[in-house]
Amino acid sequence: MTDPTRFDAAPGRRRASVPVRVGNTWIGGSHPVHVQSMTNTDTADVDATAKQIGELWRAGSEAVRVTVNNPESAAAVPRIRDKLAMKGIDVPIIGDFHYNGHQLLTNEPACAEALGKYRINPGNVGFGRKRDGQFAAIIDMALRYDKPVRIGVNWGSLDQAILAQMMDDNHARAEPWDASEVMREAVIRSALDSAAYAETLGLGRDHIILSCKVSGVQDLIAVYRSLAARCDYALHLGLTEAGMGSKGIVASTAALSILLQEGIGDTIRISLTPEPGESRTREVIVAQELLQTMGLRAFTPLVTACPGCGRTTSTFFQELAKKVQDHVRERMPEWRLKHPGVESLSLAVMGCIVNGPGESKHANIGISLPGTGEAPTAPVFEDGQKTVTLRGERIGEEFVEIIERYVERTYRPRA
Ligand code: SF4
Repeated sequence: MTDPTRFDAAPGRRRASVPVRVGNTWIGGSHPVHVQSMTNTDTADVDATAKQIGELWRAGSEAVRVTVNNPESAAAVPRIRDKLAMKGIDVPIIGDFHYNGHQLLTNEPACAEALGKYRINPGNVGFGRKRDGQFAAIIDMALRYDKPVRIGVNWGSLDQAILAQMMDDNHARAEPWDASEVMREAVIRSALDSAAYAETLGLGRDHIILSCKVSGVQDLIAVYRSLAARCDYALHLGLTEAGMGSKGIVASTAALSILLQEGIGDTIRISLTPEPGESRTREVIVAQELLQTMGLRAFTPLVTACPGCGRTTSTFFQELAKKVQDHVRERMPEWRLKHPGVESLSLAVMGCIVNGPGESKHANIGISLPGTGEAPTAPVFEDGQKTVTLRGERIGEEFVEIIERYVERTYRPRA
């Protein structure tokens, strides 16, 4: 029997959703899955926040969210937007509001105007009888400035009134659900009820994006499958509090890739906790790599590299793989403008003769480095044909030069 709470797309087919314009980008409908990120600077610090937004934008973030938690940060938003514009950076800034969003947007209309989208957490918008009035005040500002809104539920700050009501309803059931089922349903209900209320206030469906973030992979998949089946709002996907390093990347990828494969999700954010000193841009790169490795979008040439084994005792091929990946990332801002299509270029750096030539022939450009005991030569393959054999100390530099020449002649510069 078909489960009505589950949306199943054939692989490669997107769930139908209402497209939403966010600044100079679109989310939902037939638009490609969009990538966004969030700063971790004090938004009131205009220089630091503008700098980090610029870094995230340069890495490929198509919208950047900032915390707007006090009058100083609200006042900083239009100054950040202007500072970015002076550097030629036009990226939508999303304001993240909790508790006092109605006051900040009302008291700082320049902030309301400068933002590309407002994020409202229905669990934190106000409590008791004040809730609906404060929610309505934010929607009123969205209508006044023609801004879209993300109704972003997070189960760490779930609307307690909805949860309590649902717990009561559950007790009355002949066969009560377990607690996690009730929690999932409460998260979804909070998002859908808030969106319905926003519509009654006059906000169009083309101005509403929903998210229901939880921190468990199976919970996230279940929640979004149900949400996708019950509405056609554009959906923002993300696993909240995913964590640090490989744990955060694996958990986010496990959850998001299943949903994306089912056609669910219109914009994604990977919520990684940066390691001390690590760049915030990592979350953008992970989001792009997730979409690119699934074949949903192409952002940057990807390097295929073998893991290495006992057949290669030097670290040279690891260093070359890194050098090549770093080089293409560094060159992408310029290549993207001058060489359309370069993002789909494939590269291979392989450690020995076992799989090296074969894998290199599958890539646009590949190099098969000498393993232990092999002749110190490195054949290079371009579009499946061996074109040159590199030797000596400058193999890395010469391989990068080959990549540059290939890009120049294959991806014709824009007129
Ligand atoms: S290509 Fe060679 S070095 Fe790389 S993993 Fe395979 S056998 Fe090992």
